[in-house]
Amino acid sequence: MADPKGFLTTGRQEWPRRPVDERVRDWDEVYVPGGLLPIISEQADRCMDCGVPFCHEACPLGNLIPDWNDLVARDDWRAASERLHATNNFPEFTGRLCPAPCESGCVLAINQPAVTIKNVEAAIADRAWEDGLVPPRPPDRLSGRSVGVVGSGPAGLAAAQQLTRAGHTVAVYEREDRAGGLMRYGIPSFKMERVHLERRLRQMAEEGTVFRTSTAVGKDVGAKELLARHDAVVLAVGATAGRELALPGRELAGIHQAMEYLPLANRVGEGDLARSPLSASGRHVVIVGGGDTGADCLGTAVREGAASVTQLDIYPRPARGRDEEAEPWPTYPKIYRLTPAHEEAREVRAAPVADADARLFASSTVRFSGDAAGHVRELHLVEVDERRRTREGTRRSLPADLVLLALGFSGPDRTDGVAEQLGLEVDIRGTYARDAGFATNVPGVFAAGDAGRGQSLIVWAIAEGRAVAAAVDRWLSGSTRLPSPIGPYDSPMRV
Ligand SMILES: Cc1cc2nc3c(=O)[nH]c(=O)nc-3n(C[C@H](O)[C@H](O)[C@H](O)COP(=O)(O)OP(=O)(O)OC[C@H]3O[C@@H](n4cnc5c(N)ncnc54)[C@H](O)[C@@H]3O)c2cc1C
Ligand code: SF4
Repeated sequence: MADPKGFLTTGRQEWPRRPVDERVRDWDEVYVPGGLLPIISEQADRCMDCGVPFCHEACPLGNLIPDWNDLVARDDWRAASERLHATNNFPEFTGRLCPAPCESGCVLAINQPAVTIKNVEAAIADRAWEDGLVPPRPPDRLSGRSVGVVGSGPAGLAAAQQLTRAGHTVAVYEREDRAGGLMRYGIPSFKMERVHLERRLRQMAEEGTVFRTSTAVGKDVGAKELLARHDAVVLAVGATAGRELALPGRELAGIHQAMEYLPLANRVGEGDLARSPLSASGRHVVIVGGGDTGADCLGTAVREGAASVTQLDIYPRPARGRDEEAEPWPTYPKIYRLTPAHEEAREVRAAPVADADARLFASSTVRFSGDAAGHVRELHLVEVDERRRTREGTRRSLPADLVLLALGFSGPDRTDGVAEQLGLEVDIRGTYARDAGFATNVPGVFAAGDAGRGQSLIVWAIAEGRAVAAAVDRWLSGSTRLPSPIGPYDSPMRV
């Protein structure tokens, strides 16, 4: 720690966001470009270099946070980048997309605003790219063994990079036409611009990882054939089967899963489509589901020029501060968070009928009704209490020409037939069953990321990818020097 009193003399300052009226007119990241570098060394200097750094404990990757805070405070960007990349293959992704459980666990957060750990991570990662500190790192020699990785989300990419660097010959199979998983066609570019993904993919290709896009395993290549082609297979196919809302009127046109809507908007950004066929432009939009996927639909609908957007959350409005009994420090608490999308919705008054930030809390949908042509026109809801009992006299309806279901995901998309072709065991949650070493019941087949863990986060997917790579390397070579930051049953810190 360059300044032992940094946390006393400097207040928390976050990466400034661009003005709302500017950013809702484009799809670029919400942050001010270059806005971090002038403030970040002082921010990193707020770190107390704790004897027991809970930030480190709270991060599934075990990021060496106090080390790189100190190096940034001392302006040693090269060493900071080395320490950061020692535990995280893709810090520019987590530096933008992670909800930062490390900051909830930061010791400073006991009685002051936490160190801006996520911002420090993004600054180091971006600076490393600018300074040419992230060259491809191809292996010195090849092992002669090959691995097929199915799925190119963060779990598949992390596994592939680790295994390629360990000398195995790795092919990544992806059913979509471009690699990236949910970071390509799920998460909107205003949260992470695609340039960050593209340069990592280029780095990986230069290291020797082969990408076979537009190849659905189970359909274009049989799962058994894939296993015959490779010495080991990693299934990192995600958990994209959306939960349903079986209510009267669900069959009406204009009601879609969030993951039908978001990929089309992202394809406009990629230049594949001039306009999304599901565009919210001029329509009254209701998003059912209060989570991050719903917030991404909200930001997208605002940018598409919706007539109104309302987001329904079945849970009551959370408190602004943590509940010290139920979710004490250093756990990640459920508190009221104003995401950039909610900030935008509030400022452009996207939902005149809802709360200021477009959310209606404690709201449960009861049915949809439509017009004579069979298109949805209204969503009917009631208010509910904490135990989801209807509050009498609270029935109301909202205009709705486009309804987006963002209710979470139940497990891997099973329509590809991979589980049946291989005889894979599926656990009661619908995810691929695996043992303590990430191995499925089929010898040589491993499962990682959301496909094994269930719907989770980028940081957990990267940790899974690194850990499954170590397991596969051990299976192929008898031992491994690759790090294994988590086990398949590890979970976030709880009381
Ligand atoms: C809209 C949305 C927003 C999110 N925002 C955030 C966020 O801001 N921060 C965060 O931390 N997390 C976020 N998440 C969660 C995060 O994106 C996931 O936890 C993470 O991407 C999981 O990584 P994965 O590699 O396991 O799977 P995925 O990213 O889902 O990738 C799986 C890949 O496998 C491919 N695939 C599937 N089946 C086959 C097959 N048979 N053959 C070939 N390829 C196949 C898929 O096409 C896909 O590309 C978000 C999720 C969604 C849906
Ligand atoms: S817990 Fe916070 S203050 Fe302590 S080492 Fe980690 S980032 Fe620094």
